Amino acid sequence: MRRGFSIWLCPTEVDRARLLDNSARIRRARTISAASIAATLVLFVPEYGWWTVLLFGIVAANLATLDWRCARAARPQVHIAASIVLIQAVLAVAAIASGGPDSLMLPWIILPTAFSAARFRGTVVVADVTLGIALMLGVTLGVSAGEAWRHPEGLLVTAVLMISITAIVYVLSAAEVEQRGEAVLDHLTGLLNRTSLLRRFEELTEQAALTNEPISLVVLDIDRFKAINDEQGHARGDAVLRDVAYEVRKQLRSFELVYRLGGEEFLVVLPGTTLNEATAVAERLRSTLEQALPGGLAVTASFGVAGAVGAGARFDDLFADADAALYRAKDRGRNRVEIAARPPDGPLALAA
Ligand code: GH3
Ligand code: MG
Ligand code: MG
Repeated sequence: MRRGFSIWLCPTEVDRARLLDNSARIRRARTISAASIAATLVLFVPEYGWWTVLLFGIVAANLATLDWRCARAARPQVHIAASIVLIQAVLAVAAIASGGPDSLMLPWIILPTAFSAARFRGTVVVADVTLGIALMLGVTLGVSAGEAWRHPEGLLVTAVLMISITAIVYVLSAAEVEQRGEAVLDHLTGLLNRTSLLRRFEELTEQAALTNEPISLVVLDIDRFKAINDEQGHARGDAVLRDVAYEVRKQLRSFELVYRLGGEEFLVVLPGTTLNEATAVAERLRSTLEQALPGGLAVTASFGVAGAVGAGARFDDLFADADAALYRAKDRGRNRVEIAARPPDGPLALAA
């Protein structure tokens, strides 16, 4: 159920990448929005009392820990969606307690919905707008049906603003996704291609440096793929690539991104994962592929793993290390995992 929900939130690789990238991008907007709300609530204290600040504390604690939780969660999209719904619920409670249809806090319920439009696909955004409007109806009609019926202006204006602002954010975000989809998606496998890799890695290394978290790469290359093309035909080769991509994706958590680097070579980026854990992931992928019969054929792959911690993570170095390890795996007989020689958290050992 939970897994079904997380797939509904982010069914494709582009949905996942957009969620992760945009969450980082809107962090500043989120902070500005929360700070201005906090300042306004302090001004509201004489009118409403301190409880509004207390409610805001719940939202602030949720937002302050959101990135931290997402960096560790198997399905960060569930945390983000839960955070949006939590904020909507808190705002609904605040609006009920401060006058229902007359509450000046009601319009703030627009904000979580607008933020959801920056991160999620259309269906999810429509569901969130629907929830937002249902909450507004509950707040106004539930508290004072007669008053809401006589003076629906506040409700209507808020609903129109919610729909309009959310539509604007969504259209801008969707335009970016469309470009991204064309530019960064590999059409054969549905995975990301290498265009989006460097930018994503920049963000990840920034995050790793801030949190002193590990980050690891796994590079994999299908063994003797040319022979498959030569003996079974190019179409069968394509089917193998599609199935390998599917099997690899299926084994990974949603914030672990998979890229098709070109040909029959793939890269898995594992944020928050140590070299040892990444090696276990690679071993799991290796044995999965060995058993999966991609394209109906016995296919294996070789793997190179490299990792770094915190500020030590540089893409060029990590990738070169993982690639060197991959070539060692090929040399040593294929269908195996090799680990980069470089110490996981340090710079190149000069004496080595
Ligand atoms: P190794 O075990 O050393 O990796 O051997 P290999 O045969 O897998 O490696 P090689 O690099 O010699 O062959 C890669 C082949 O992948 C050659 C190329 O024609 C094929 N290829 C690259 N892109 C595609 C594609 O999109 N579809 C298909 N069917 N084949 C592709
Ligand atoms: Mg190969
Ligand atoms: Mg190759």
